[in-house]
Amino acid sequence: MNKSEKKISKRNFLKYGLYGTCGMIAGLSNLDLIAGEISKMASGLPSVSPDKLWKWSKEALYYIETPKGIKCRLCPHACFLKEGETGDCRTRIALENKLYTIVYGNPCAIHVDPIEKKPLYHFLPESRAFSVATAGCNLACLNCQNWQISQSSPKETTNYDLMPDKLVEKAKSYKCKSIAYTYSEPIVFYEYMYDSAKIAHANNIKNIFVSAGYIKEKPLRNLSKYIDAANIDLKSFSNDIYEMLNGGTLQPVLNTLKILKEENVWLEITNLIVPSWTDNMDMIKKMCDWLYDNGFADCPLHFSRFSPTYKLTQLPYTSATTLKKARKIAIDAGLKYVYIGNIVGSKAENTYCPNCGEVLIERKGFRIIKNSIKNNKCSFCGEKIAGVWE
Ligand code: SF4
Ligand SMILES: [Zn+2]
Repeated sequence: MNKSEKKISKRNFLKYGLYGTCGMIAGLSNLDLIAGEISKMASGLPSVSPDKLWKWSKEALYYIETPKGIKCRLCPHACFLKEGETGDCRTRIALENKLYTIVYGNPCAIHVDPIEKKPLYHFLPESRAFSVATAGCNLACLNCQNWQISQSSPKETTNYDLMPDKLVEKAKSYKCKSIAYTYSEPIVFYEYMYDSAKIAHANNIKNIFVSAGYIKEKPLRNLSKYIDAANIDLKSFSNDIYEMLNGGTLQPVLNTLKILKEENVWLEITNLIVPSWTDNMDMIKKMCDWLYDNGFADCPLHFSRFSPTYKLTQLPYTSATTLKKARKIAIDAGLKYVYIGNIVGSKAENTYCPNCGEVLIERKGFRIIKNSIKNNKCSFCGEKIAGVWE
């Protein structure tokens, strides 16, 4: 479809709306920060010079020096950066032939969340996840829920001072079984996540990676050693849509799913259905068939409801009918655990036994009403239920 076709169809008028003219609202209204002892610092990037890098800078782990400048090797964008330039993610800067992260230990969002909110439905149910995010993202989704932080540089957010050792201490003091790297895009604070995850493991705390999965293989494999569970957004099953809606591409995300599986990271997948963008049922069927054919039948799939936000405020909420249709397609394709998210009270929030059909975990929002999984099995018929339950 070319650009002029986009302009004349009614569907595309809705789809594209007037996002070019939307204003940004400052603040973090949907992120309820933990009050308390963690010192909060107004941020501000000092003048750029290696000996004057700010406290939250650290040499990046994945880059090379090339005749064209510094090339970042963390994500598929593979940015080339000249002296003083910052990458697309706003969190990596080239200085005197080195690449630095500028989000090491300065999260701008900190919460204690139920693990079900990630969403992870088959991993330590009812436990708490100490959740952190820094500013920045390597994608640019028109529908981003957390755009106030993801589409900002750490210069523009108000940040906490929370180095990896302190982060783990905090997680322990709030009795969290895990730390979740989440909300914005943890890939862009890779070094902070990696070092924190290592310390967390030494303290018997699990690590959760909630990401769009737009990362290169080597850093992902190295990170996987310390990651226990992941929820990866599979935003659509179309490269064109990935380019136009998200500013990325599809194949690297599919690679990420396969790599996490190979590395034995517990994996759940989220597919947000955006009306007129990602609600094509043929495409959803192709995605589900791909998941089944590639060994993801046991991997929970969460179809999530879109709410109008950021640059797509002209779109409606995803209808319950659309979500139910998608769920049926996934189940018919052979996927065993398919959920509908963001609709409280839906029966599709529950876990059903794929063998006998009994309700195994009954949920209401993020609360668990009952859990009939015993020793990783259905307590009605003995079927093994995939997940990390204890
Ligand atoms: S991580 Fe950031 S700097 Fe590195 S390639 Fe991706 S967008 Fe560019
Ligand atoms: Zn059963």
